[in-house]
Amino acid sequence: MTRENSNENLSFSPPSESLSRFFGRSGEALGLKVAFKTLGCRLNQYETDALVTDFDEAGYKLVDFDQSPDVVVINTCTVTNQSDQKSRTVISQAARKNKDAVVVVTGCMANNFKEKLESQDNITFVVENNRKSSILSLVDAHFSGEILHPEQLPQDVFRYEPVRKSLHTRSAVKVQDGCDNFCTFCIIPTVRGRAVSRPVADVLESVRKTIENGFKEIVVTGVNIGRYEDGESKFEDLLAQILDVPGDFRVRISSLEPDGFGDRFVELFSHPKLMPHLHLCLQSGSEKTLLRMRRMYDVEQFRKTINQFRSVYPDFNFTTDIIVGFPGETDEEFQQTLDAVAEFNFSHVHTFKYSVRKGTRAERMENHIPEKIKTARSAQIRELSEENKLRYYQSLIGKTQNILVEKATKTKASGYGDLFVPVEFEAKDVQKNTIHTVKLTGLSGEGEKLVVVGELI
Ligand code: SF4
Repeated sequence: MTRENSNENLSFSPPSESLSRFFGRSGEALGLKVAFKTLGCRLNQYETDALVTDFDEAGYKLVDFDQSPDVVVINTCTVTNQSDQKSRTVISQAARKNKDAVVVVTGCMANNFKEKLESQDNITFVVENNRKSSILSLVDAHFSGEILHPEQLPQDVFRYEPVRKSLHTRSAVKVQDGCDNFCTFCIIPTVRGRAVSRPVADVLESVRKTIENGFKEIVVTGVNIGRYEDGESKFEDLLAQILDVPGDFRVRISSLEPDGFGDRFVELFSHPKLMPHLHLCLQSGSEKTLLRMRRMYDVEQFRKTINQFRSVYPDFNFTTDIIVGFPGETDEEFQQTLDAVAEFNFSHVHTFKYSVRKGTRAERMENHIPEKIKTARSAQIRELSEENKLRYYQSLIGKTQNILVEKATKTKASGYGDLFVPVEFEAKDVQKNTIHTVKLTGLSGEGEKLVVVGELI
């Protein structure tokens, strides 16, 4: 239960729009400040950015946690135990630092641990994912003296305004939510619900407005976007239409499940607006482990996809997710994963130690792997991933990239190139959110901090 609201007031009619949308800049009128914290995936980051836009348009001042915000919004993640732990830490730190603030907790962990969070008296509102887009209405109502329960908010996973004010240089556009795959380790279908796709017309409108708002890079995002379906339109059809939207912008795809796409998808990458990078989630290089995970592809299919892309686009950048220590993972199965990571030459591997998610099928499997082994396997994957990254970045020296500038000083700029590789270059008075062509000349730093350096041409 929230700190000061109860179900007694459920007879209050839910607003379909925020009060700010009716009555103007409520946050400005009351001099209110808001702080945000996001954990987890790109989709969560996008949803926070859309909320930032909402609050900004309502006149709330955007501040950091330590600048005495009146409202704190924490968009949590629950994909692993570690994500839960991080989310809990952020909630308690934010609430401790801002004792009088309205603390709103939303995101996947809010769905997964709703009752527990509602019983905490350091949280004002717990808002489930499917009502997240209306958080401004809830906060506005609170400051107007209305008593509104989060469950009175409309349920709509696509009701986000196109991002205008953002915490990031690129903006995502959400095209899909939820998943019907039910991989045996995954809690996402429970906390994000079944797969649902946003109508093509809405997506295109959102892309147009996001470009009008000044963004130069759009990231097409969702939980399982490869399964996008609106009438006859599949993901490739949607992507082709996004690429046809006029304007000076480029398009990236957020993470993708490696099944269900064909030749047309590969061909679309010849479009100059579509960036040659994919985060394709392999999870394991062992056929047996993939079967236990109930993934929808096998290693051979994955290999074909990678080879097909690289035969057309030799520098194509692949990154991936790997889960180590899935129940029953033998040394041999893990070795197959190491072999696959080496063979597919991913430039980055996001490594997760398997952690039990309550209610999933993997929770009930036998032979759970001791934490010590998971930690050792995770370190091996990381080491291999660093070697891959070094080799891949070295292979790019002498080539050119178009860099979208994210950081700039008077003499230096940095950002990501077409291949989603971080690049630094010397340049005078370059502006953020501008694109510059750079010749890659060398490397700097190491490990996580490895970047490619270049010079303007
Ligand atoms: S495809 Fe599998 S891992 Fe990905 S969100 Fe769906 S259930 Fe989870």
